[in-house]
Amino acid sequence: MPRLAEAIGLHAGDLWAKRDDLTGLAAGGNKIRKLEWTVGAALADGADTLITTGAPQSNHARLTAAAAARLGLHAVLVFGGRAATPAGNLILDDLLGATITWTGDEPPAEAAETIAERLRADGRRPVVIPFGGSNAVGAHGYRIAAGEILEQRPDVEHVVCALGSGGTMAGLVAGLGPERVLGVHTGAVDDPVGQVAGLLRDMGVTAPPEALRIRRDQVGDGYGSLTADAATALRTAARTEGLVLDPVYTARALAGLHAEVRDGRIEAGQPTVFLASGGLPGLFGHPDVAPLTEES
Ligand SMILES: *Cc1c(COP(=O)(O)O)cnc(C)c1O
Repeated sequence: MPRLAEAIGLHAGDLWAKRDDLTGLAAGGNKIRKLEWTVGAALADGADTLITTGAPQSNHARLTAAAAARLGLHAVLVFGGRAATPAGNLILDDLLGATITWTGDEPPAEAAETIAERLRADGRRPVVIPFGGSNAVGAHGYRIAAGEILEQRPDVEHVVCALGSGGTMAGLVAGLGPERVLGVHTGAVDDPVGQVAGLLRDMGVTAPPEALRIRRDQVGDGYGSLTADAATALRTAARTEGLVLDPVYTARALAGLHAEVRDGRIEAGQPTVFLASGGLPGLFGHPDVAPLTEES
């Protein structure tokens, strides 16, 4: 990504993108690498239905629906709140044949368990996949991705990813060690350090929580907000490399990488891999993106 590298203060040869937005199923994204393992475990248990939870623009929910379609399973997507206007990922969820349930004030994780019990009573075999697909089984997919990155760029000093439910960062840390992985917190969880540390513990990896590199300054007004720095990052990646990021995750991750360079924690000359983790449909489901194009 030579032009992007120079735009954020690195040398042209320093920056590479790991294109996990091109993982090959229903608009791609990082969740496929986790689903490969969580759905594998569900199939081994004889599942006929995948249930998962998330925010309405969840990329994980969309890819769970896609995996279910590909495997001939049912998918039930459980979202908090009331039915949102169909846009972005919600359109794809419907197209992929998922059943969408809105829980109102009930926490989606509880509603998912209730739905699973009801389906079991009907003789079905549901499996609940956790929020973001992030448990020790799912995070294993990113431990493998870390190995791929090391093969492709053995001298890598920094791997930069967005931190949502934490499985991506945990898997990368499991494979690369905490020193080389920078997670940019998106506001998806309350305690990102605890979330990643907990997943590492569940994976049997010892990494002291204080060794984790996590930037927490890109959340702005919260998970669903489009920050000014993320808007700049969206434009910069698109206009230097033709790389389209998403407003919630990858734009924040690039803004965090840029801030890290400005702070002198990542320096020109240090080989850096940016995880392009997908999320493009979210760009079309985000309320603040249309006004952005009117400004530019
Ligand atoms: C979910 C998601 C992430 C974050 O991954 P986690 O494993 O949940 O931390 C990053 N980028 C995109 C596009 C995502 O959908």
